[in-house]
Amino acid sequence: MTNPLYDRLFGKHKGKTSVFLQQPDGSTMTHNEFLELASQYAHTLVQLGLQPDDCLAVQIAKSPQALAVYAACAQAGVVFLPLNTAYTADEVSYFVEDSRAKVLLCDEKQAAALQPVAAACGAILKTLNEDGSGEFSVLAQTMPTVFDTVPREEDDLASFLYTSGTTGRSKGAMLTHGNLLSNSQALADEWRFTEQDVLLHALPIFHTHGLFVATNVSLTAGSKIIFLPKFDLDIMLNLMPQATVMMGVPTFYTRLLSDPRFTKELAQPMRLFISGSAPLLADTHVEFEERTGHRILERYGMTETNMNTSNPYDGERRAGTVGLPLPGTEVKITDMDTGETLPQGEIGQIEVRGPNVFKGYWQMPEKTAEELREDGFFITGDLGLIDKDGYVHIVGRNKDLIISGGYNIYPKELELLLDEEEGVLESAVIGVPHADFGETVVAVLIAKSGVTLDLESIEKNIAQTLARFKQPKKFVVIEELPRNTMGKVQKNLLRDQFGHLFA
Ligand code: ATP
Ligand code: MG
Repeated sequence: MTNPLYDRLFGKHKGKTSVFLQQPDGSTMTHNEFLELASQYAHTLVQLGLQPDDCLAVQIAKSPQALAVYAACAQAGVVFLPLNTAYTADEVSYFVEDSRAKVLLCDEKQAAALQPVAAACGAILKTLNEDGSGEFSVLAQTMPTVFDTVPREEDDLASFLYTSGTTGRSKGAMLTHGNLLSNSQALADEWRFTEQDVLLHALPIFHTHGLFVATNVSLTAGSKIIFLPKFDLDIMLNLMPQATVMMGVPTFYTRLLSDPRFTKELAQPMRLFISGSAPLLADTHVEFEERTGHRILERYGMTETNMNTSNPYDGERRAGTVGLPLPGTEVKITDMDTGETLPQGEIGQIEVRGPNVFKGYWQMPEKTAEELREDGFFITGDLGLIDKDGYVHIVGRNKDLIISGGYNIYPKELELLLDEEEGVLESAVIGVPHADFGETVVAVLIAKSGVTLDLESIEKNIAQTLARFKQPKKFVVIEELPRNTMGKVQKNLLRDQFGHLFA
C-alpha cells in the first residue's frame, strides 16, 4: 500500500542530508531532519486522537515546524486545514466548526482567545509557537522519529483549503492527494525545477500559493527553500544572491522595484521570477524587464483548482496574460447564460477541467453543484478570453462585472486605460447601484506619490476612447486600494464605501 502525497513529495527524501529549509538567520534543516520531525508529529497527532480522514486545523506562524505539521498530516492520513494567521477568534470559530476539525493548533499568544472556540466545537487545543516550542512540541519530543505511513488512495482528501473570501464567505475546497500531486508535477516540469534550485519563499503557508505551489514544487524536485517568515524587503535583497527562483504576489514585485538596491546585478543571476494570486500590471512587467533583464512568468490558479495556466518557460511570456493551459488541464470560455463554449477571442466565463480540480466544497453540495459541472468542468468565477495563440487573458471576476443599462462592462478594460493616464499609479473600477441603469461605473484612482490628479482631463481623455455607457459617472481618488494578504484588491470594500453615490 502506498500514500501518494507522502511517498512522492516527502518520503522519497528519506535519509537525505541535503538542506531542505534555510531560515533567515542561516540555520538549516535537512530533508531527513524534516522527515524525522514530521514523523514525531504524526505520532503526536495519533496520540491526540486523530484518525485517518479526521481534520486538523492550524492557525500558526510560518516556520519549519509549521510545514512539518503538513507533512505529518500527509503521513498520518489526516486532512490538513491551515488558517490565515490574521483571522480573529470569531473567524477561526467558523472554520473549526465548519470543518469539524478535531484538533486545533495555535500560537500560545492566541490560546486564551481560542480555548473557548475549540471547546465550543468539541476540538482539542494545543499550542505550537513560531519558534517551534509549545505543548505540541513537548508531546512530540518523546515520540519515535519513524512512523508507519498510513495508506491512502489518490482520491482521498489531503487538505481542506478555504478560499480567500474575496467575493464572499470563504468556502472549504476539498483537495485530494491526486489533485495536489498532479499539479506539483506539472508545475515542476513546466518551470524546470531541479535539485539545484533554491527558492526564495516569503509567501504565507496558509494559502495555495505559498503552501502547495511553492512547497510542493520544491519537494517534487528536491530543491532547497529559503524560508522567510514574511516578506521583508531588506532580507529579500540580502538573500537573493543565494537563490535561483522567487515566487511572489504582484505587490512583492512592486515593492522590489520601488527600492534602488534592487539592481540588475542582484537580479540577473536568478533563474526565474514567478507571479500569481492577483493580476500583475503590464507596467510592472515592463519595468521589471527594463530593470533586471528578466521577464516575470505569470501564472493563474485558485484554491479549488491549484494552478491552471502558466506563461511558458521557453516561449514568449506575454504581459497582461496568464499564459497557456498546463499539460493535462483543459481551459474553455463559455457563455454565462447558456454554458456553451464561445468562439475563440470572445469574453466569457473561464472553466477548467483536469486532475488538479478539487472534489467539491466541503458541506456545500448546492454550491458544488452550481460550480462544478457533472462533466468535470469547474466554473471558476473569473471572466476572460483565449487569444489566437492560446494565451488566456483574465478580464475580471464574474462578481465584479458591471451591468449598466443592460450592457456588460468589464472593469479591466477601463482599468487598463486609467492606469495609462498621467499621474495614475493604479485604479479599480466598480459598479454601484443606480436608479436608472441598475448599476453604473465608478472609477477609484490612486495617484503616484506627490501627484495631484487632474480628474477633468482624465475624464475627457477616457471619454474619447470609451463608449458612453462605459464611461465612469464618478472619479474618486483614495490613498491606497484595500488589499488582502494575498495582494488581492477587495472590491467589495470599495463597493461598500462608494455604493451610495447614486442610490
Ligand atoms: P473567494 O473565492 O473566496 O472569493 P478568491 O477567489 O480570491 O476568494 P483564491 O482561491 O485565493 O480566493 O484566489 C483565486 C483567484 O485569484 C482567482 O479566481 C483569480 O480571480 C485570482 N487570480 C489568481 N491568479 C491570478 C492572476 N495571475 N491574474 C489575475 N487574477 C488571478
Ligand atoms: Mg474564488
